[in-house]
Amino acid sequence: LAKDCGRNTYRFFVTQMNADAQKRMRIQTDLHTALKNNEFLLHYQPQIRLSDGRISGIEALIRWQNADGQMLSPSEFIPIAEQSGLIIQMGQWVLREACRQLAAWHQQGQTQLVVAVNLSSHQFRYGNIVETISSALNDFGLPPQCLELELTESILIQDTESVISTLHTLKHIGVKLAIDDFGTGYSSLSYLKRLSVDKLKIDKSFIRDLHKDQDSAEIVRAIIQLGHILQLTVIAEGVETEQQLAFLTDSHCDEIQGYLFSRPVAAEHIPEILARIGMTA
Ligand code: C2E
Ligand code: MG
Ligand code: MG
Ligand code: MG
Repeated sequence: LAKDCGRNTYRFFVTQMNADAQKRMRIQTDLHTALKNNEFLLHYQPQIRLSDGRISGIEALIRWQNADGQMLSPSEFIPIAEQSGLIIQMGQWVLREACRQLAAWHQQGQTQLVVAVNLSSHQFRYGNIVETISSALNDFGLPPQCLELELTESILIQDTESVISTLHTLKHIGVKLAIDDFGTGYSSLSYLKRLSVDKLKIDKSFIRDLHKDQDSAEIVRAIIQLGHILQLTVIAEGVETEQQLAFLTDSHCDEIQGYLFSRPVAAEHIPEILARIGMTA
């Protein structure tokens, strides 16, 4: 019986593995077509400064509407794009599209807006990132301070000469640097001191558990204090409830982002959101 069971389990795994592998291969092929056919779009989610309730920045988040009209989540295709190297082309498109959109908002009078763009590790290392960024800023006539790059700890802990020199070049150009999902990675804190990062984004898992466990609440408070000691801006992502907002306000968090204020939305909805809080151009 045990043997039978084992064999079935084995068969189950093989079938499952094939299905997963097939799905991945399918997505990989489709990604090529998607790039050619312009099936990607960006949604934008506002970041709110708690001191004055104004929008301090807007994060660009990629969306993929495939030929069947299905919306795919980045968590389904970004890892595959990373492994196949397609992330470089995709990331270049994201940067240029975000800059194009930001320039349009600036032209509508919203000159204080900053756009935040996520960079993946592979793109950062092999994507000719300095060149891509400076030409995007240049082509759309944007000041570098209005572009913020969201980096994950996985990029920063690599700590190689080339990562450090790229970060310094980016700082020198004048773009802002944020550490995304802070607290979930390797949390080597030494890079915070060495690299001139501007912002910490507290990972949403801590915000989700704020009122479920005491540890998350303590960690959130500690990250805010750490950030402030290092003179960084601290933002909490994934803020969904008034209760979380109250805790973050009380803990002197600088900014929030999450469904409580707005979900990520298509670019055309951003003006309504700005108007709603009195940020008319
Ligand atoms: P992230 O950069 O940490 O983005 C935050 C994610 O949380 C987004 O998911 C956002 O839609 C979601 N979110 C925002 N507010 C809330 C909330 O209140 N509650 C909850 N539960 N979730 C919230 P999304 O758009 O599915 O993106 C997932 C991840 O995919 C991003 O995490 C980022 O790592 C990656 N990603 C998205 N766009 C890009 C891109 O253009 N380039 C790269 N390299 N990665 C991207
Ligand atoms: Mg992000
Ligand atoms: Mg994040
Ligand atoms: Mg995240």
